[in-house]
Formats: sequence, structure tokens, C-alpha cells
Amino acid sequence: MMNSLPFSPFLGLAIVFIFGALVGSFLNVCIGRIPDGESIVTPPSHCPKCKAPIAFYDNVPLLSFIFLRGRCRACSERISPRYFIVELLMAFFAVALFYWFGLSFSFSVSFVFVAALIVISFIDLDVRIVPDVISLPGIVLGLVFSAVGYFFFRNELSIVPSPLSSLIGILAGGGFLLATAWVYEKFTGVEGMGGGDIKLLAMIGAFLGWPAIPVTLFIASLLGSVVGITCMVLTGAGRRLALPFAPFLCSGALAYLFFANEIIELYLPSR
Ligand SMILES: [Zn+2]
Repeated sequence: MMNSLPFSPFLGLAIVFIFGALVGSFLNVCIGRIPDGESIVTPPSHCPKCKAPIAFYDNVPLLSFIFLRGRCRACSERISPRYFIVELLMAFFAVALFYWFGLSFSFSVSFVFVAALIVISFIDLDVRIVPDVISLPGIVLGLVFSAVGYFFFRNELSIVPSPLSSLIGILAGGGFLLATAWVYEKFTGVEGMGGGDIKLLAMIGAFLGWPAIPVTLFIASLLGSVVGITCMVLTGAGRRLALPFAPFLCSGALAYLFFANEIIELYLPSR
């Protein structure tokens, strides 16, 4: 942990926190624009209501939201707290990953992975879609990372799976859910898990390897049930209450990312 630091640990954590917040700021752009098929590069950020361009000093991650009290400087329209939450989340996870893995190949790979999970979760919460433009390249990227890790970072204690484990993860993640969805639809006539969730689980398998699939599904189902039942009780909604499932799958994958060894020890003790 925290190995290979050329400077004081505190300075390192501060730099990683700021870097995470900046990336979070970019993730907000992705979350806002990908569902509409807009470019994530141009035009520069503007207020969604009055279209006023946002000056660089009003676009500082975390700080601007606090100074402007969550409102547009030009028209005082409320800015969604999502911007602040996403920046804080990415900054938090950047620090946590850095603390866990140090400045390593595992850190780089899991940083990209967590960023993708955050974008997917918030887009699913927003518009109930798991965007293919993230999950499909994510499947390929996870497999490529596993190959890079296998050939170049083999002696590093790594969370990156072997290419074989990654490939089985893709097939298990995609295949298991495809089969479940098919059976569910056959018996109930209702479309259960969406195709987007299936591609997301395949991406999770690609990045974390096949042992992550049952763990992710288990944690996601458990969390989903608890939150679902709580929502039904609180809102009085019926059984057809449909929660977006991607945030639960992402939470399961994150739990595995940080606690893989402890979790695997629990269900594959012979390893
Ligand atoms: Zn405005």
C-alpha cells in the first residue's frame, strides 16, 4: 500500500484527490451528453437553462458548486447536486484506489473501471439506459488490460485478472444473464433484466475476471432487494416497481474490487 511515492504521502493523496475531482467533472459531461448522443468534447459547458457559457472559474470541481450555492451565476437556475456528488465520488474513489493499490498498474486499470461504473450508474439513474458506448468498449478494454497485465506487469501483486479469467468473465457475465433473462421472459412474458445490464456484467467480468461474476450478482441482488422493498414500503408502489439495476451491479463490482481477496477466501477457500 502507498508504495513507490516520490513525495510525502499526504501530498500524494491531495494530488490524487484533485485529479479524481477533475476527472469527475469530465464524467459529469459524459453523463449529461451521452444519452442525447451529443459530443463530449464540444461545445464547452453551458447552463442547460439559459445556455450561458460557464466560465472556467465557475467550473472548478467541487468548489464552484459550493461558492455558487448550486445555482447558475447568470440565471440562478438550480444546478443538479449530481455534479457535486459525481466529482466527490470520483475524488473519493481515486484516493481509496491509490491507498489500496499505490501508484501501480492495478491503480490505473481500476481507476478507468470505476470511472466507467460511475458514468453507467448515473446515466441509468437518469434515463434508465446502460449506454452501449461505455459498456461495449469497456468489455474490450478489460480484456486488453488483462493481456497487458499478463505480459508486462506479471510480478506485480495485481487485481487485474489473467486473460483467460477475463474471457471467461465476459462469457459468464453475458451468458448467465442472457439465459436468466430468456427463462424469465419465457415464464412471465415480461422483459426482466435489460440487455444493457447484461453487457455491463460482461464488462465487469472482463475487468475483474470470472470469480467476480457470482459475487457481483449476489451483492447486487441483495442490495436491490433491500432497496426495492424499502421503496415499496415507503411509496406504496406495487410489485412492478422497476428500479434501475446498473447501480446495484456497479456497487457489487466495487465491493469485489476492494475486497476480492477476503471475498474469494470465503467461497473458494482452497485457492
Ligand atoms: Zn443559467
